[in-house]
Amino acid sequence: MRSPSHCQACRAPIRWTVTDRGKRLAVDAEPHPDGNTAVYRDGRGTWLSRRPTTELPIAPWEKLHKPHVATCAARQDDEPMTRCLGIIRLDDAPARERDQ
Ligand SMILES: [Zn+2]
Repeated sequence: MRSPSHCQACRAPIRWTVTDRGKRLAVDAEPHPDGNTAVYRDGRGTWLSRRPTTELPIAPWEKLHKPHVATCAARQDDEPMTRCLGIIRLDDAPARERDQ
């Protein structure tokens, strides 16, 4: 029994899978009904993942998970551009001070 892995960024439990293209993909350890990744374990104990399609929908032995990048608390950095508010012209104040 392998202990679950944890995301190095947010410490959430994750599961490393291998996609059908042979790439490593971290998914949330717990299945999620809104997940878009079908995860199952092959006969050797490797967790495999793939995108369900209309031709190959989710199978009874597969569970839907969310890719961890979609839920990672440490990667929610796409906030609105709050830095655009309150633009300061840094070159103004020193110039005025010099003139006094
Ligand atoms: Zn994370």
